[in-house]
Amino acid sequence: MEKSKNFDTKLIHSGEPHPRIGQAVTMPIFQSSTFEHDSETHYHDIKYARLSNTPNHKVLGEKIAALENGESALVTSSGMSAISATLLAFLKSGDHVLVQNCLYGGTHSLLTQDLLDLGIKSDFIDANDPKSWATKLKPETKMIYVETMSNPLLEIPDFNSVVDFARTKKIKSVIDNTFASPLNFRPLEMGFDLSIHSATKYLNGHSDIVAGAVIGKKEDITSVTHKLDHLGGSLDPHACFLLQRGIKTLAVRVRYQNESALQIAQYLSKHPGILRVNYPGLDTHPQHSRAKEFFAGFSGMMSFRLKGGLAAANSLIEKLSIPIHAPSLGGVESLITRPAFSSHGGASAEQRNKMGITDDLIRLSVGLESTEDLIKDFENAI
Ligand code: PLP
Repeated sequence: MEKSKNFDTKLIHSGEPHPRIGQAVTMPIFQSSTFEHDSETHYHDIKYARLSNTPNHKVLGEKIAALENGESALVTSSGMSAISATLLAFLKSGDHVLVQNCLYGGTHSLLTQDLLDLGIKSDFIDANDPKSWATKLKPETKMIYVETMSNPLLEIPDFNSVVDFARTKKIKSVIDNTFASPLNFRPLEMGFDLSIHSATKYLNGHSDIVAGAVIGKKEDITSVTHKLDHLGGSLDPHACFLLQRGIKTLAVRVRYQNESALQIAQYLSKHPGILRVNYPGLDTHPQHSRAKEFFAGFSGMMSFRLKGGLAAANSLIEKLSIPIHAPSLGGVESLITRPAFSSHGGASAEQRNKMGITDDLIRLSVGLESTEDLIKDFENAI
């Protein structure tokens, strides 16, 4: 599929096999762990499902690469396996990484616990204060890592400065683009080296699989693939099939979620019972102008606090009848959670405090229900 095709067309047709397999319009599932040998070959090229090279992996990788205009992409068994394989592919004992100070709890724990145990150190940076980054740079620094919209506070890093800094210092720039989805933002186009997704969320969109993806230059994706081959985090072919199906409707889903979340955020931000709403589409958001400059839409994600604190937060979640009280995001059902007890429950209270995640903070992932019904539900529950 040519690069010039529009995003919506790429979602449906990029990567799909030609000629179609058995003339099937939908990519079939190759539920086989192993494949016949062609000839003697390198270990990583043996056709074996753990090495992420079945027809399902290949087609899906090509489709995802096309969505963010990357050379290559790899699908993995979860967002965390995409993150861990990427970090371990480019960092070894003694290396150092600069990390945005508020980010997904799983990534935070991986860096501050597991990678630290392996001798890989990290320092946290304010992703909106580029002048401060050099003070934390060490000769061993190999990577700068940020999220497009930080989980759960929706902070937006200074993207241009991250890319410039990485280029000048000759380190890798890595971004977790899960919250934005490739419809709203394509980080490689502005110079990021690697873009990562928890494909569990918007890419798949139906809260029925756990998956991940990494997109970047061919050479870099080969390194991540070889690392994943050893770690064993390949995606099952049946989950590949579901992910490929989910991706096809990404544009219609996320456009609706962008619109619906904006209306809900505007409604909540004017409500007298609400203390603060974090949503990049609101002009009160500190990086609203950056969001307008770089994003096609502001996503279906927001977080907020009520004036009544923790008791009011618990009561709201209990009274809502449409959003489901569950972790995760990006699906067709609206999901509501308190990050201190879900996505960031693995971090200590002190670490959460440093990140600015209070116990009463509520995170909402807007689904595909009627916006009017959702607003009425909030009206009743607040
Ligand atoms: N990145 C972000 C921004 C997330 O929110 C999550 C999960 O919530 C992950 C990565 C990890 O993804 P997974 O749960 O698919 O391993």
